[in-house]
Amino acid sequence: MYSLSRVFIVICFMLNLAFFPPAYGQSLEVLEQKLASITDPAEQLEFLLSYQEDSEGFDRQQQAKYWFLLGNHQERNEQLDRAVASYTQAITLEQARHQGPSVLQVESLLERSYARYLQTYDTRLYCPDRKQALEMARQLNQSKLLVKVLVRYAFCFKDFNADLSRGLALLDEAIAIATNNQLSPREHAMIYNASGLLYQNYNVYEKSYDFLNKAYQQWASVNDYQDMFNMQFTLVNTAINMKRFDLAGKHVDTLFYLAKSQKQFKDFIFFSHFCAGTLALAQGKFKESVAQLLLALEQRDKTGEVYFVRLTYEYLVISYFRLGKFIEAEQQLMDYQSAFPEYQTESLEILAIKEFLAGNYSAAMEQFYLRLDQEVEQRRDFVLRSTSTTASLFNVNITELDNKILQQDLQINALQFDKEQEQKRNAYLFLLLVSFLAFALVLLSWHLLRTRKIFRHRAQTDHLTRIANRRHSFETGQHMLNQAVSLNHPMSLIVFDIDHFKQVNDSLGHETGDQAIVQVVEKSKECLRKQDHLGRIGGEEFLLLLPGTRQGKAVEIAERIRAKVATARVGVEPDIIDLTVSLGVVCAREEKNLQDLINRGDKALYQAKAGGRNQVVSA
Ligand code: GH3
Ligand code: MG
Ligand code: MG
Repeated sequence: MYSLSRVFIVICFMLNLAFFPPAYGQSLEVLEQKLASITDPAEQLEFLLSYQEDSEGFDRQQQAKYWFLLGNHQERNEQLDRAVASYTQAITLEQARHQGPSVLQVESLLERSYARYLQTYDTRLYCPDRKQALEMARQLNQSKLLVKVLVRYAFCFKDFNADLSRGLALLDEAIAIATNNQLSPREHAMIYNASGLLYQNYNVYEKSYDFLNKAYQQWASVNDYQDMFNMQFTLVNTAINMKRFDLAGKHVDTLFYLAKSQKQFKDFIFFSHFCAGTLALAQGKFKESVAQLLLALEQRDKTGEVYFVRLTYEYLVISYFRLGKFIEAEQQLMDYQSAFPEYQTESLEILAIKEFLAGNYSAAMEQFYLRLDQEVEQRRDFVLRSTSTTASLFNVNITELDNKILQQDLQINALQFDKEQEQKRNAYLFLLLVSFLAFALVLLSWHLLRTRKIFRHRAQTDHLTRIANRRHSFETGQHMLNQAVSLNHPMSLIVFDIDHFKQVNDSLGHETGDQAIVQVVEKSKECLRKQDHLGRIGGEEFLLLLPGTRQGKAVEIAERIRAKVATARVGVEPDIIDLTVSLGVVCAREEKNLQDLINRGDKALYQAKAGGRNQVVSA
């Protein structure tokens, strides 16, 4: 048993070798494994570069992957030009290898775009790659990849002069895909975050705030504390921009809560104090901002984010200065200088304070004025941007608005936007309601029509025989006569009555009498043509209307009915009664009134009765 399974394994191994020779791909795998064991980014890159020659032995796909990997590491080592070249190499190799688009091609385009973004911050230079990546990703049918590309491309519409609505459309699409394909909360968070930042760039802070909050919820659902913290950090600043200090305060509380409960993140406490200080400064609570920023500075070693440490110093200097504590302000300036000896601040406010504290008041004034100009400029930009944002959201032609732009009141615009949205929503609801009502109305009228028809039919029908009743027969007859007169067509009618019907009732009972009436009707019906109209105008008396029929033909029909009815009988042996009818036939001459015609028909009927019954008399 043991040896048999060994033989089997050996055979399998040989088959495996025959059909799947060791691929070059394994070399790349080995390479990646070795790479993972190195920690220093510079050494990693060096190691990768040492493989460059060997990589030419790989198959095309592995080669493309190698260049992609190399690009990643060059990017990490801030060799952006080289990274761009490597990604280009990967893209070229993939194009040569693969007919349509491939995942690696899309990923390489995205990465090349990112490197160019870091190089230039110019959408005109880094966005064509994203556009192409999107076109390819659409053909690949991989929802996660497509969402990623959509989000990246959406960032291409973040600039002041770009079209916000296009960026938002991409993100809407991404959300739809993420929802339909039940992608993870991370993907959703990524999209919401992008939407928030896009709105932020256009100063639409309320929308931005909503989306960032949504992103936070998604991160929270997977307990991603780092991203939860980042999102709260952004929310503090967004709330400050909205002048919603109450909300900003709540987010600061959340930051502190996260910092205390997630001690493994060492820099959380620094950023919590930094945010608390920023908020206090924005509110003009300088004592509090001093306290918080000092606490932040105590934690400055815990973060590698130099930019925020610098900001902490600067906010602290400003806070002391605003409190009139010039000595402390000066002390902080010196500390700042010694912490970052190489760094020259660009903050006009700090420069002005520096001059002031050095006793150079005119220079200080100069700097403050520059700062003021800067602020005015920023505000103009804000107005300009907000107006054009609203315009773009409305899809209004921006040039039309150009002249009005500066006077336009931002709040009115925002309100209008909301109102428009509301109106759109209402219009939609209204449409829905109207459609519903219309549908209900159609149903109702259909129902009414149907019941009316039923009622009318009932009102016109004799319930025993199901043929027309007296009133309906007379109405129909009069109508036919009117037409016959106006068109100068002939018209005849037959009046007939069951013979000795009393006898039937008396000897066989009323019920059998009823059956007899029904039988006579059934027999008569067999003799009718399509246009003829039979009605019951009395107990056992009938009227047959014959439009377009001359006397001769009418007599023929009457005779046929007589003969037919004469074959009918009622009762049970031995009490059988043969049924017969007597008929009076008349053709319209001068009559305009149906009753006159019937009267003549009646007379003929009497004659038939008098003549011995079971016969036809023509008037
Ligand atoms: P004639 O040959 O002269 O017509 O004799 P007749 O017995 O038929 O006389 P007449 O036409 O005057 O009699 C009508 C009888 O039909 C009177 C009535 O009791 C009976 N009758 C009327 N309507 C109904 C009905 O709906 N059902 C039944 N079973 N009998 C009816
Ligand atoms: Mg009778
Ligand atoms: Mg009668």
